Amino acid sequence: ARKYVVKRYFEGVPKRDDFEIIEYELPPIQNGEILVKAEWVSVDPYLRAYNNFRFPVPYDQFSYQVGLVEDSKDPRFPVGTRVVSHKGWCDYSVMNANVSNSPAEIIYKLPDMKDFSNSLGIGAVGLPGATAYFGLLEICQPKAGETVVVTGAAGAVGSLVGQIAKIKGCRVIGFAGSDDKVNWLEKDLGFDKAFNYKTVDVQKVLKKAAPKGVDCYFDNVGGEISSIIIGQMNDFGRVAVCGSISSYNDDFAKLPKATILQIPLVMKQLKIEGFLAPRWRDRWSEAFSDLYKWIKSGDLKTREHVTEGFDKLYDAFIGMLNGENIGKALVKI
Ligand code: NDP
Repeated sequence: ARKYVVKRYFEGVPKRDDFEIIEYELPPIQNGEILVKAEWVSVDPYLRAYNNFRFPVPYDQFSYQVGLVEDSKDPRFPVGTRVVSHKGWCDYSVMNANVSNSPAEIIYKLPDMKDFSNSLGIGAVGLPGATAYFGLLEICQPKAGETVVVTGAAGAVGSLVGQIAKIKGCRVIGFAGSDDKVNWLEKDLGFDKAFNYKTVDVQKVLKKAAPKGVDCYFDNVGGEISSIIIGQMNDFGRVAVCGSISSYNDDFAKLPKATILQIPLVMKQLKIEGFLAPRWRDRWSEAFSDLYKWIKSGDLKTREHVTEGFDKLYDAFIGMLNGENIGKALVKI
């Protein structure tokens, strides 16, 4: 089997030789264990952010993956079952569902995707789906007619957030990093308005696109753009802080202090809440059933940025951090 190990703490953008591909012999499976061949492996922003928290190195590069059970000594997961796990960047692995009580050891059966690709299990019907669903519906609690803004709008989470907000009857404005992304959001996904944050004056375009102000902000990126958007929120607006990718390559110990948020927070009586999708882990199946239903009905469109090959995991990861992906970035093993 092969797996990627992170050897050290990243400095800035992760480098190829911060990772090592290790080849090793897997032991024969024991009672309660399954042998899983990875088929789809996820590359995500949190893999970069995690490394900043200085947990011990080296560590195996985790992430979500969809795999096929090839050998089984657990009757709940017979040969041929597809499982979602957090085993990450490896081609084969041995798993034990009986010790899967920590988030890192999660294993569950992939719901039957029928006519759709099993890769949805790490996308719209996986972590990004649950993140968009609970972050928007539980934290922002958008009501029909309200204006919702999302950053990172053309990514795995952001593209779902905007579409779910449309399904709930909201007006949706997205910010993303290229004109192609903006076109996709407006023409294919039905966003009311989208902008390339790299080329527009965010303050100005948002004033024009949301003349009555912003009610909900789903924040995927942090940084200055978030301060500008929060500055244009209405009384009792809600901010779901999902991520802060604009600072993941920075040293967290040296981040500048936010100074500009307090005034709108007080004056507009805003509610701002960070969250992690596993908070609702026991309700993910509820999200997955809605998300799958919307995909089937055509109300929710999904797009994937697929890179082929185990050897390309690093490239796919860096490509995603650089914004090369439209929709969910993943690797077909
Ligand atoms: P995406 O598919 O959105 O991919 C990352 C995108 O981030 C890139 O495509 C790029 O798009 C954008 N980006 C990169 N650098 C910057 C920057 N400096 N400023 C603004 N945008 C940037 O990833 P995900 O959908 O998987 O994740 C989106 C966010 O959600 C991340 O912050 C992630 O950490 C967070 N997340 C949080 C979870 C939770 O439980 N709280 C769970 C899963 C994800 P562009 O071209 O637009 O710049």
